[in-house]
Amino acid sequence: RLRRWGYDVVTATVGRQAWDVLQEDDCPRLALLDWMMPELDGLEVCKKVRKLVPEPYRYIIMLTAKGGQEDIVEGLEAGADDYLTKPVEMQELKVRLRAGERIVDLQTQLLQARDALKYQASHDMLTGLWNRSTILDAVDREFSRALRERSPVAVVMADIDFFKNVNDTHGHPAGDAVLRTVANRLKDGMRRYDSIGRYGGEEFLFVLPGCDRENALNQTERLRRLVGDAPALHEGLEIPVTLSMGVAVFSATAAQEPDELIKIADEALYRAKDNGRNRVELA
Ligand code: GH3
Ligand code: MG
Ligand code: MG
Repeated sequence: RLRRWGYDVVTATVGRQAWDVLQEDDCPRLALLDWMMPELDGLEVCKKVRKLVPEPYRYIIMLTAKGGQEDIVEGLEAGADDYLTKPVEMQELKVRLRAGERIVDLQTQLLQARDALKYQASHDMLTGLWNRSTILDAVDREFSRALRERSPVAVVMADIDFFKNVNDTHGHPAGDAVLRTVANRLKDGMRRYDSIGRYGGEEFLFVLPGCDRENALNQTERLRRLVGDAPALHEGLEIPVTLSMGVAVFSATAAQEPDELIKIADEALYRAKDNGRNRVELA
C-alpha cells in the first residue's frame, strides 16, 4: 500500500533490524513502528532513535495493537511523533503519513537554509575564499598551534598592483573577474593545510603553518609567480595582473601576538610596493 502511495519502502522484520536501518545517515525519514517485536521492541527503538543526533529528523509513527490510553502516553513519551492503533484505517494512515512528511520537509528546508547561512557567514561571496573574520580566526588558531608545537608559522599579506587601473580602464565587472582569477590561482597554488582569505578589497591574507623564513619566502615567491605569469582573461581581454606581498614569520620563541604579525606583514607589503611592486618582502 505504501509503495502504491509513492513511498520508497524499507522493511525490517524485527526491532534490531529497524534500529540498524534508522541509525544510518541516509535512513528513511518516516518510520512506522510496531510496538511488540522480539528482542528490541518498538518502544526501545523509538527511545534509541531519539538519543541519536537530531539530524536528519526521523518522524516516527507507532502502529500497534496496544490501544490503551496509558499505552499511547507511553509511546509518545518514548519519542513517537504520532500513534495509531490496529486495525488501521488506510485513509487515516495516508493523511498521518502526509503530516509526517510535512515535518520532515520543513526540517530539510531549515537545514538547507542553515547551511547556506553558515557558508555566507564564513565566505567571501565574490571569490569564494574565507572572509576576513574567518581568516583572522584561522590565523589565531594556527598561532596557538605553533606555540603549542613549537613550530613556525608565516602570515602573508598580498595586494593586487595598480588594481584601480583595471576598474578605471575596463570597468568594475572586469575588476571583479580579475579578483576571482587571482583568488583561484592562489587557492589552487597553496598547500592543503594553508589557509587564505579575502582581507579587504583587493587584499588577501594567508597563513602558512610550519613555514620558517626560507620556506615562507619560497612559497610566497612561487605564489607571486603563479599569479603574475599569465594575464587574467575577461571577455576576450587579457588583463595583466601582479601581486605585491609582505611576509612575517613567527617562531615560537618570539613573544608576538597574531595582530602584531599581521601588522608586520602589512608593513613588509608596503615596502614591496615602494620597492617597485610585483615582489615579495620578508619582514
Ligand atoms: P597599489 O598598486 O598601490 O595597490 O594600487 P591600487 O590601485 O591597487 O590600490 P588602491 O588601493 O588605490 O585601489 C584599490 C582598488 O580596489 C580601489 C577599489 O575600487 C578596488 N576594489 C576594491 N574592492 C573591489 C571589488 O570587490 N571589485 C572591484 N572591481 N574593485 C574593487
Ligand atoms: Mg592594490
Ligand atoms: Mg589595497
